[in-house]
Amino acid sequence: MRLDYLTIFPDYLAPLGLSLPGKAQERGLIEVHVHDLRQWTDDRHHTVDDTPYGGGAGMVMKPEPWGEAFDVLAIDGATLVVTTPSGEPFTQALARDLATRERLVFACGRYEGIDQRVLDHAAGRAEVREVSIGDYVLNGGEVAALAITEAVVRLLPGFMGNAESLTEESHEDGLLEYPVYTKPASWRGLDVPDVLLSGDHGRISAWRRDQAERRTTERRPDLLHPSRADSEWDVVAAT
Ligand code: SAM
Repeated sequence: MRLDYLTIFPDYLAPLGLSLPGKAQERGLIEVHVHDLRQWTDDRHHTVDDTPYGGGAGMVMKPEPWGEAFDVLAIDGATLVVTTPSGEPFTQALARDLATRERLVFACGRYEGIDQRVLDHAAGRAEVREVSIGDYVLNGGEVAALAITEAVVRLLPGFMGNAESLTEESHEDGLLEYPVYTKPASWRGLDVPDVLLSGDHGRISAWRRDQAERRTTERRPDLLHPSRADSEWDVVAAT
């Protein structure tokens, strides 16, 4: 998979050379290219932003540098991931979907975001996915791009030594993961649950399922009853 990142803070993406994405590069599973958007400006100050039409606070990213970057990088046929708090929520299902692509191009916004025409124009040559990593506002899209990258790259075939550890994780079966323990069996007066020491795989598996269901019920009931979350939202919206 080829990964391109467009940003005005290339150093922010240095962690791509570390840990998981670093390993994936060493193994030849991914090819990473980080680009400074300012190289596609033509004024002395390398300006990438301007005031918003219609007024309002903040600045908006100008379309020209993005358009030139997309031309030079020939994004045709790629999937353009535009990080934005108003995008579709990033989920494990979306990570799985993106993991099937041959090329992802990340557009890391700053200021109040990117001129809408950049996305509208790109949609004629690439698959455009506006993606949010959560209901909060970051200062820029770099952290979001790193989070999306990490979730996607660990799903690439051949990346994880033990593929089973992927299927047993939170969000893979609609549940949060059960609590996990390792040695020693007793630590600071706290014991590992007996069932995990029993060697009885049937009981262990039933216990884990039960714990996963309890945890999900307590912490994320919306995962078990998505329709209820929708109707709660309707009530909030109506008030
Ligand atoms: N004015 C924008 C709004 O209200 O939707 C917020 C802009 S934010 C300050 C600047 C950039 O940070 C965005 O263009 C986006 O790239 C990134 N960003 C902020 N929050 C994000 C989130 N939750 N998910 C993904 N990207 C985010």
